[in-house]
Amino acid sequence: MSILEVKNLHVSIEDKEILKGVNLQMKTDEIHAIMGPNGTGKSTLSAAIMGHPSYIVTEGEILLDGQNVLEMAVDERARAGLFLAVQYPSEIAGITNAEFMRAAINARRPEDDKIPVMKFIKKLDEKMAVLDMAEEMAERYLNEGFSGGEKKRNEILQLMMIEPTFAILDEIDSGLDIDALKVVSKGINAMRGEKFGALIITHYQRLLNYVTPDVVHVMMNGIIVKTGGAELAKRLEAEGYKGIRDELGLDF
Ligand code: ADP
Ligand code: MG
Ligand code: MG
Repeated sequence: MSILEVKNLHVSIEDKEILKGVNLQMKTDEIHAIMGPNGTGKSTLSAAIMGHPSYIVTEGEILLDGQNVLEMAVDERARAGLFLAVQYPSEIAGITNAEFMRAAINARRPEDDKIPVMKFIKKLDEKMAVLDMAEEMAERYLNEGFSGGEKKRNEILQLMMIEPTFAILDEIDSGLDIDALKVVSKGINAMRGEKFGALIITHYQRLLNYVTPDVVHVMMNGIIVKTGGAELAKRLEAEGYKGIRDELGLDF
């Protein structure tokens, strides 16, 4: 079992404090969801966990199995088993999707134990079939000219190929039609197990109908204001954030 701990995390962007003391603890074999209004710091949390240089941690800790993540460079975090599916995946010309994934897999393996090409291709074919992706998607430049839905599906392909210990999926469901949503959910559910944990950031209950979270956190104004089970997401869908604000007497 692995454990990812975020303790009293404060993060600023350009001297403006966005996260104001986030506490979160997740284990493998668990799926957590973070819901919250726009602009509350959800993407900031994911960027800080992955080590985006614009996000300055001013206080607090991030620990992966007790190791200090904040001391690691971005590539070290990835090698340690962290994975982020970003809200807006970038297009990278000159490197194919397959080349990218093979390099990412090999970066996590020792020098004398790189993934054999045939094994890689077999795995790629299998995962692309699960995700209902056309074979040619693997040979196209990374995300170049991909539709919004194809980019999101491709993030899940990377997830299934790289097999991180912890994945943060930032609005992986935004802009997806119902078929794509089901495919993405199928991919996440296929990853579930004792070697994998995920943090799903979403605005909507919709995805959580297909991927049932073990824990749901509500983030507002840079902190987690409430944590509960899957029913909390349903309640938010029914009441909006107003119900939580009223219950907790929040003035933001
Ligand atoms: P969420 O993902 O919950 O919608 P974000 O983490 O993206 O929220 O943003 C939180 C706050 O930080 C917002 O007020 C946003 O305007 C601000 N912010 C995000 N990125 C930057 C940036 N690069 N420069 C300045 N402010 C930013
Ligand atoms: Mg947002
Ligand atoms: Mg966001």
